[in-house]
Parts: sequence; C-alpha cells; structure tokens
Amino acid sequence: MLRTIFSVRGIAGVLALMGAVILSGCASDSSVISQANEMNSALQPAIVTDPVLSQYIQKVGDRIIDAAGEMYRQGYGPAAQVDEDSQWMFSQKMQFHFVNSKTLNAFTTGGEHMYVYTELFQKTRNENELATVMAHEFAHVYGRHVQKGMNRQYGVLLATVGAGAAGYALGDKSNRETYAGLAAGGAMLAGQLLNAGFTRGDEAEADEMGFEFYIRAGYDPDHFGDFFQRMIDLGLDKGSDGVGKYLSDHPSLKSRVELAHKRAAELSPQVKQQMERPDVASAAQYAQLQQRSIQVGASMPNDTTLGAVSELLQALPRSCLTPVIFPDQERAAEELEERAHQQEQLQNGQQRQQELNRQQQEKKKAKSAKSAPQQAGQLSQSPPSYRSGQ
Ligand SMILES: [Zn+2]
Repeated sequence: MLRTIFSVRGIAGVLALMGAVILSGCASDSSVISQANEMNSALQPAIVTDPVLSQYIQKVGDRIIDAAGEMYRQGYGPAAQVDEDSQWMFSQKMQFHFVNSKTLNAFTTGGEHMYVYTELFQKTRNENELATVMAHEFAHVYGRHVQKGMNRQYGVLLATVGAGAAGYALGDKSNRETYAGLAAGGAMLAGQLLNAGFTRGDEAEADEMGFEFYIRAGYDPDHFGDFFQRMIDLGLDKGSDGVGKYLSDHPSLKSRVELAHKRAAELSPQVKQQMERPDVASAAQYAQLQQRSIQVGASMPNDTTLGAVSELLQALPRSCLTPVIFPDQERAAEELEERAHQQEQLQNGQQRQQELNRQQQEKKKAKSAKSAPQQAGQLSQSPPSYRSGQ
C-alpha cells in the first residue's frame, strides 16, 4: 500500500522536501510549526470562525497554556528539558480551534494549532470534559510528540495532507485536481498509518501532563476522568467485538479513567481548593454555546471543498480519544485511497500525453530548424535573382 502512496508523484515531491528532516531524525520546531500552519490553511473551510465560539475555546485554552507556561518556568516535563527554546508554546500565537465536523475527534498537528471537533464539543457534558481533551492536546505540543513522530511518519502524514489540501484550497481550477490528488494521497496515508500516530507512550504522557495543566488551570481534578468515561458510555471502547478494530498498543479508556481517579486521589483537599477556579462558562452558558455550535455548523458552507476537508478529517487517526479504528474512518480512508489511485492514473495519463506533446513539438522544431537555413538561403538568393530579372 505504501508503494502506491509513494508512487504518487506530487507526494513524492513533498516527501522529498521532508526528506532532510526525516533522515536527520530530528525535526526542528520551526519545521513542525510551518507544516502545522499549512495544515491549518487546508482546514480553513471547516474551522468555525464564529467569534463567540472561537473566543470561548481560546479562553479555556489560554488558561491551560498559562498553567503550562508556569510549570515550564519551574522546569516541569520535556519542554523544559530540551535545548530548544520553548517560549513559542506559551505565546499569543497558540490557537485552539473548533472544527465543524460530525466526527468525534480532537487532534493537534503540533506547532501552534490544536483542534476540537464540534461533534466532540456537543457530546461533552461540561467545561471540565472539554478542558480535559484540550489539556491533553496541548500536552502533545508540550511533549513535542509531533517532532518525535517525524521518524514514525506521523509528521510526513501531516505535511502531505497539509501541503496537498492547502494547495487545493489555494490553487486555481486547473491545479485543483492535482492538489486534490495530493490531499487524497495524504488522507490515504492517514488511513494507512493509523498505528503510526501518537504512540501509547505519547498518549500516556499527554494524559499525565494534561492532568497537571488541567488542575492548574483551575479545573476539578475529580472530573478529569469523566471525559474518558463519557467516551466509554458512548461505546468508544469497543474493539473487534463492537464497532471497530481495537488497537491493542493504545491505552484503554478504562485504564485512563482509573489513572485519572488515582491522580486526583493523591491530591489533598487543601491543594484542590487552592487551585479550583470558576469555569469560563456557567452550565447554562455552556449549553448555549453547544447549541450555537450546532446552528453555526448548519449554516457553514457545505460545498465540495468542505466535503473534501471533512473526508480528510474523518480519515485522520483518533488515537487521542479511543484505541479503536471505526468503520467510518476506514471507509473514509478507503474512499480517499480509491480517489488517490484514480488521480494517480489520471496524472500518469496526463504526463504521458504531455510527454507525447513535448516530443511532437521537438520534432516540429527540429524539422523547422532544418528547413529554416534553406528558406533563408532561398530568400537571400531571391532578391538578386529578382533584381537580375529587372
Ligand atoms: Zn492524544
């Protein structure tokens, strides 16, 4: 399958660009930041721009980021233990986005962007549950898990999807098919590399650090496990007996709930009290925001561009939330794979045609170059003969 992917010419170009990073095995922050920005451009059509919703998610996110920044200054965790400057992680540029999608997911591309799908937002019961998943996503950034994942191809996946789909969004009509092919190829990669997303260790670390950020952002430690329990209640822990294929190398939702309870139990009531702060939105406001996201989602353009982006999103790994590969995810990946294959054939056909055209042009040129001196000679000879004829 990978053979097919890498034979898609455009993708090979992107991979070549990424090659230096992969070969060196050491992705710089700036390369991850720039590829995350490209991916963000690609996702633009699906990103909720409603100011009330985007300001709300950013407010919750800023509390988490500020808490993490404070811990960074105290020397906590991987971000504080590397040579690279990590200040960018706590800057104003860090953005949380709602993505308009019916898929239950949240993810980060590393860099300055973290995403929560509206479906997930609508399924949470309160701000604690939302903050749990947001703290977990930010912890992937803090742990530089995407940088680490460059060697495991997750970074390549994001770069490919990002470059392809960004091109699609920006390209003119004639380029769109090519770019769509790239995007499809990238998503195909997403489908194929489900296991190459974040590792079990990354997920465990993101839960561990996420918990610390979450409680220091003022959220209730006793409720950190609620989000994962909610995922279980929604049937997302079901493996091969249930709705999807189970990834045995990912932490189970049950173990994540247990660990969350254990961590909360280790805190004294005084510490809990000291850290707790009121939520950004009251329960009633939270319900209103969820309702608003449904309305905004319904009025967002449902054109083919959004459709393509939706499919990309659907095919992306969901290992942050669940150790299960769902049938819709598999379907999306298969459909994109099929499309990428068709695109590849189309591109090959077009390239063959272009090559034939080029060869014909060259033949013509060579022919006219041969006959040109003769004509020139005839022309230079004709005036004297004309004059001589006078
Ligand atoms: Zn995760």
